[in-house]
Amino acid sequence: MSPPLTDATKTAATNRRIVVPFVDLKTQSDLIADEIEGAIADVFRAGRFILTEEVTAFEAEFANYCGAKHAISVNSGFDALVLALRVAGIGPGDEVITVPNSFFATAAAVSHAGATPVFVDCEPGTLSIDVNHVESAITPRTRAILPVHLFGRLADMRSLCALAEKHGLRIIEDAAQAHGAEDLERSAGTFGELGCFSFYPTKNLGAYGDGGAIVTDDGKLADDLGSLRNYGEREKYHHHLLGVNSRLDALQAAILRVKLPRMFAWTEARRRVAARYAEKLEGLPVTVMAPPRRWEDPCDHVFHLFVVELDDRDEVRSALAAEGVQTGVHYPVPIHLQPAYHFLGKGRGSFPVAERSADRLLSLPLFPEITDEQVDYVVDVLANILAARS
Ligand SMILES: *Cc1c(COP(=O)(O)O)cnc(C)c1O
Repeated sequence: MSPPLTDATKTAATNRRIVVPFVDLKTQSDLIADEIEGAIADVFRAGRFILTEEVTAFEAEFANYCGAKHAISVNSGFDALVLALRVAGIGPGDEVITVPNSFFATAAAVSHAGATPVFVDCEPGTLSIDVNHVESAITPRTRAILPVHLFGRLADMRSLCALAEKHGLRIIEDAAQAHGAEDLERSAGTFGELGCFSFYPTKNLGAYGDGGAIVTDDGKLADDLGSLRNYGEREKYHHHLLGVNSRLDALQAAILRVKLPRMFAWTEARRRVAARYAEKLEGLPVTVMAPPRRWEDPCDHVFHLFVVELDDRDEVRSALAAEGVQTGVHYPVPIHLQPAYHFLGKGRGSFPVAERSADRLLSLPLFPEITDEQVDYVVDVLANILAARS
């Protein structure tokens, strides 16, 4: 039996006009259900499930989408990062410069490759790695820079590539949130030697389960990655590398092949939603974080997330939830303050921009199928909440 409604919950419930989920995967999968079911049925009928031609075909199509020569599919975005680091020869004793304001996987991959993540703070506003801090973090042990295209916005790749070249470092991109973000002639994942993607269901290109990929133009790295993700085999039962089992399922490859051609339309839809939010939020006491370089041509941003910064985030978030607006927080605890990383000895105060933003960021509902009505409702509810608090 559910508890009786209090007067307060009754009022909220009866005034509620619509519910806006933070992400709605079902609407999208319903729209493409026939094609997905056909693709899945084909895999079943073929009766082969591991490293099939579906997987090879998806890899070629995804490489082409990114403008890379090769794509090697793996089991997750995390595995993409670990294997990219390993194939680049990064391991124990090495340092990798990255950011504390990302999903935990970014730093955990460095650690699981056997190396040490060295954090530098992000830049206020863009929340991308602060290039001005990178140089002073370089030591004789530094081997690579691992930038994150946070929320789908390209980091400052030109400056980072110039720095990497000057110091003889590799660049490995965490492009898990940035499928298709572009800067003139290059696309996320192809600025450095290796670019890592996730196909976690809520990512811009999401499987119906886990998946990931690494893109590269280097044929030797591609070869070794293809082998590393399959127990280091080149020939059946002959293992020349100490590889792992990290293969993308044929079923997931078949699903991703149905979704990939729709990415252009879905990315455009995300950009339209973001522009609508940005316009409607003008005048409210919130700041749009990690905006594209130019709103008129937001090619460098694929809006995995639409994130604002505001005061009293947690209270505003609860008030939104009470009106049916679901939101997210990316991410509430910077990586250096996670218990798993206490051993690095980087306490509170180490990275002030990342720490301050962790307490103030709020991700608004965004998915390609969100309606204008839903977006306007989110902004109206937010405006009312903020007005009542001022
Ligand atoms: C999702 C994500 C990952 C990890 O991807 P999984 O497929 O979940 O392992 C890594 N880095 C970033 C920035 C991500 O958003």
